[in-house]
Amino acid sequence: MGPDFHHRRERLTRRFESLKIDGFLVSNPINVTYLTGFTGEASFLLVGTSDALLVSDARFGIQIEEECTGLRTHIRTMNETTLQAVGQCLDKLGWRSVGVESGNVTIAVHEALKEASKYVNWAPTKREVETLRAVKDEWEIGQIREAIAAAERAFGMLKAMMSPADTEVDLSDALESYVRKSGGRGTSFQSIVAIGERSALAHAPPTPRAISTGAFMLVDWGAHNGLYRSDLTRILRPRTEWFHPENMGFDEGRLEAVYKAVLTAQQRAIAAIRPGVKGCDIDAVARGVLADAGLIDYFTHGLGHGLGLEVHEAPSIRPKVEDTLEAGNVIAIEPGVYFQGWGGVRIEDDILVTPEGAEVLTSVPRDWETTII
Ligand code: ZN
Ligand code: ZN
Repeated sequence: MGPDFHHRRERLTRRFESLKIDGFLVSNPINVTYLTGFTGEASFLLVGTSDALLVSDARFGIQIEEECTGLRTHIRTMNETTLQAVGQCLDKLGWRSVGVESGNVTIAVHEALKEASKYVNWAPTKREVETLRAVKDEWEIGQIREAIAAAERAFGMLKAMMSPADTEVDLSDALESYVRKSGGRGTSFQSIVAIGERSALAHAPPTPRAISTGAFMLVDWGAHNGLYRSDLTRILRPRTEWFHPENMGFDEGRLEAVYKAVLTAQQRAIAAIRPGVKGCDIDAVARGVLADAGLIDYFTHGLGHGLGLEVHEAPSIRPKVEDTLEAGNVIAIEPGVYFQGWGGVRIEDDILVTPEGAEVLTSVPRDWETTII
């Protein structure tokens, strides 16, 4: 069974009464994709209680027919902007109060909208479609499983093909090609391959540094299948014969202790996941484990995030954020600790929130013994 876009739009219209709106203008292209299947850009979706209309331009005519069977479409002429066309469509529809996405509408777009229609009152809204997107349906969960499978196959190829002279850039580039060979359409983001002390940079861009110059490395990668994304992180330790001699004095015991503390923090947090629990409380579970291990000052980011059409989406799993977990959320849980000049350890897995608790969707081994390549 394919995605039910009609049902998704209907979920949005159920919000109209409390938002006091007659219709909704969807301008964030990812939200347009979520509500229609259309993957192009520069197009706006009008959602009303009984109908939806995609306002686009001639470049996308055929693509819309292919991707959005049965969706009403208005293709603007060359003599008007898409926003002017939106205004004319709205005046014909007769909607008076129309929700706009505050997080996406720039001041310039807002000005253009005010000019485009004389009658419409634009009502700012916050994260309406993003909130719907946080709860995945069965079809979406299947898509995310595909994205995870492609990422995991690619990681297996990366490990199998790795050699000590490979650099961060080589490995990051290789992941892109392995993901494509594994059935993915590309990586979710530029893969992070951070060797030695560079792993202390939570979002290290790849450099020409070689595997043989570090006692361990951090790989943070994911795959997308054209729509949905996965996001994983693993630590790898090159076998002893790959070490450069200057690394022979590396304190493996310290790495093992840090790794096991981060893994325990992750596993305890995952065990605490269930519908109705707040993301900040899951974050606090991991933070408690790292505090007991004396590592809390080095855990400098939130514990996790939702995952779907975007690599970071609702719900947020971090301190002081009140997002509550619901069955159908897919979240990445990624505790990490970072020591400048030494290195960082992060472990990241993707989890489905089920009515009973957590289902870990990712299956790359994460025990300390399995980090050796
Ligand atoms: Zn990641
Ligand atoms: Zn992540």
